Amino acid sequence: MAGDPSLFCIDAHCHLADSQFTNDIESVIERALKAGVKSALCVAIGHSDFEKIISLNKRFPDFVVPCLGVHPVQEEEDGTSKCVTNEDLKDAIPLIEKYHDKIAAIGEVGLDFTPRFCKSKEDRETQRQILASQVEIAKKYNLPLNVHSRSAGRPTISLLKELGAENVLLHAFDGRPSIAMEGVKAGFYFSIPPSIVRSEQKEKLVKQLPLDCLLLESDSPALAPQKQMRNEPQNIQISAEYIARIKGTDVSHVCEITTQNAFKLFPRLKNFLQKLMTAIMDNSKFFVYDGPRKDVNYPIEVLYCGECTMPVEYCEYYPNYERCKIWLEKNMPDQFKKLMAGKDIDLKEASKYFATKFSCGSSVTADEIVIQGDVKDELFDIIPEKWPQIDEDNIDDLGEQKK
Ligand SMILES: [Zn+2]
Ligand SMILES: [Zn+2]
Repeated sequence: MAGDPSLFCIDAHCHLADSQFTNDIESVIERALKAGVKSALCVAIGHSDFEKIISLNKRFPDFVVPCLGVHPVQEEEDGTSKCVTNEDLKDAIPLIEKYHDKIAAIGEVGLDFTPRFCKSKEDRETQRQILASQVEIAKKYNLPLNVHSRSAGRPTISLLKELGAENVLLHAFDGRPSIAMEGVKAGFYFSIPPSIVRSEQKEKLVKQLPLDCLLLESDSPALAPQKQMRNEPQNIQISAEYIARIKGTDVSHVCEITTQNAFKLFPRLKNFLQKLMTAIMDNSKFFVYDGPRKDVNYPIEVLYCGECTMPVEYCEYYPNYERCKIWLEKNMPDQFKKLMAGKDIDLKEASKYFATKFSCGSSVTADEIVIQGDVKDELFDIIPEKWPQIDEDNIDDLGEQKK
């Protein structure tokens, strides 16, 4: 299958704990990585999946991002499906509580009013209650929700809004675009599976919804591009290609925006992708763009060194840095003094340190470190501890800027 390992996409919803993957999970993940799928949120159906998902995360810590929750339709041991019961939730709660800090979302949860599984008014009421309890858990642990809705688009969105759920992914939404727009207004996101290639409804949905609220998902092993085929995370490339065509843009743009959306909706994703994040830290396109900074005057004036021809703050990476120093001292004495004064602290090092410490975005610009996230109070404790040469009185609160 076509795929580009240099892309960076996230599968926002899949079932890698499904028995269909038991025999070849390694190659499934390998193929995903080759197609540019860097990570997958792996959701549960019910409590019997939980330990399996947690252990998959232990085996593939960068790739398998666990989500725990109770689906509205439960699978029986004989392979048949039935509406969820309170019993199912009761068995699941202690495990969700136990693993709450190991997961990135509560899911898969939701409403499924397909008449085959959901036969009565009571069944619908049970599903609503079970969804409501899990929204409470999500709120308690500040976790987003990975939500299923089938033949229940409108009731799912209105119940979530009623319950005040804020961070919501509606996966494989099968309702009308006008109903989906109610979710968009509430700030919900929608993930698009590869089955879009054979679904007019999904195509209409993508036409109407802004790219800013879309994510990619496989729902593997379900919702493959062809019926009856086993789906895999690598196929989210097909979703990306299709969305790109509908939106009149290219695949890399779709991957970029949907990945940004995934990081916005699932902030803990960063913790799972830490190694990768450190590597791409300077590539700030994967972080939320905050707009022009208040404490910076634009346009920013860039000073170039006459020796290495790079902006002066990069001189130190030039092999003949000593020659730069001589040039700077002679031609830009003020800059030279400033650069030498800041020398005793390696800003790149410090920035990396902050990024790991807070698992947040952190980058070096000119003579300062930009840290994304609300870590102000922690900084006051950490800076003097890590760099004893800095006098605590010299740490000023400049809004979001610390040196
Ligand atoms: Zn689902
Ligand atoms: Zn699913």
